[in-house]
Amino acid sequence: MQSRQASHNVFDTLPGEGHTFRNREVLSSTYIPEDFPHRNTEIDQVAHILRPALEGSRPSNILIYGQTGTGKTAVAQHIRRQLEAKVSLQGSAIHTAYINCKQVNTPYGILANIGQTYTTDWEDSIPHTGWRLEQVYTALCRKAEESGAIAIVVLDEVDALVKKSGDEVLYHLTGINSDLGVARMSLIGISNDTKFTTFLDPRVKSRLGEESLVFPPYNAVQLRDILHQRAEQAFHEGALDPQVISLCASRAAQEHGDARKALDLLRIATEMAERDSAQRVTIDYVSRAENMMEQDQVRKVILQLPLQHKATLVAILANESQSRLDRQTTGDVYDTYGRVCQRFELDALTQRRIGDIISELDMQGLISARVVSLGRHGRTRLISTATAFSELQPIIAEDSFMSEALDLAAEGGLVRTQLRLM
Ligand code: ADP
Ligand code: MG
Repeated sequence: MQSRQASHNVFDTLPGEGHTFRNREVLSSTYIPEDFPHRNTEIDQVAHILRPALEGSRPSNILIYGQTGTGKTAVAQHIRRQLEAKVSLQGSAIHTAYINCKQVNTPYGILANIGQTYTTDWEDSIPHTGWRLEQVYTALCRKAEESGAIAIVVLDEVDALVKKSGDEVLYHLTGINSDLGVARMSLIGISNDTKFTTFLDPRVKSRLGEESLVFPPYNAVQLRDILHQRAEQAFHEGALDPQVISLCASRAAQEHGDARKALDLLRIATEMAERDSAQRVTIDYVSRAENMMEQDQVRKVILQLPLQHKATLVAILANESQSRLDRQTTGDVYDTYGRVCQRFELDALTQRRIGDIISELDMQGLISARVVSLGRHGRTRLISTATAFSELQPIIAEDSFMSEALDLAAEGGLVRTQLRLM
């Protein structure tokens, strides 16, 4: 019997894989490039401020501001790596720590993370609970002194720490050098929110901001350079249509010059093209990727709404799906909202407050509330959802309260047959 031709491997026919990405990792959000187009000035400035550490003196504390996607985190990580490389060559006594304060946002967590850079037995010697902040702080000072080193501590998204836990731990950390003998500590605070220092104790504010730097948003041309640099490493020759990078760059430039958005657009567009086994990534995939990202954004906003907002949104959705009317008044929403509250034993707010919530949902782009004149009857708002019901349904289904409330509100409890307006 004739043997079958070259044996077939299932992985050979899996769609996509192979002809676009050369190195997928390069576009991931955690990848830190070697070069940062259009950030050389900022990198030099930070390096200049930190240089005294290599000569054994304490560098000034630095505050770095800038909108999301302006390269703050990546640049800080890059500089930290460079410093560590230098340290391992020179053998200088420098410790570095990177803490994302969105993830670690308690005073204990911050001090423990810094403590761990000095010693591996921090976890064993310092209890997780039961100690007052001052005790943990004293333990940290002792560990720092034992090391006798300079520590450079990056506090990324430091505004999140202040919002969650106030500025007490920053008060301690920015004053730590006067409690230390030989050891030294410098802080690099990074914030998306330029106004966050207004919430700080004036002493903390001036100590933390000994030096400050702003990372300006990128324009479309700069974003294009950043994308080109990545694309060279990430893609096979000819995998991208020529306009793809420009389109990703201009879209992200419209959104406050966010390099993360530009990179995400490019990555998602490519993944979609791969799934379709397309030979090239075309601008059509970029548009589709943008739609998907917007949809994701809507999802995040909806799932994080407070309960009363969810109840209000559900009322609007129920009215819309039930009556097939695409416009409703605040009164219509309030009726259905009241029914949702009754069924779920939720305290019903006043109609005026629901009016405010409707405005908030409008501002978040979830619904549209248009003011129309009723002639001598005054004015009212006409409310409709901003996204098609079919697109919202899967999001609602993820939230048990909203999906149950929507079922109940739609389940015939609704007797409204016509708009109040008419
Ligand atoms: P931020 O912390 O300011 O929100 P990130 O540092 O996370 O922004 O940057 C977002 C993404 O854009 C990261 O993947 C980062 O590597 C990339 N990036 C930002 N600026 C540059 C640049 N100048 N060159 C190359 N990549 C950059
Ligand atoms: Mg960041």
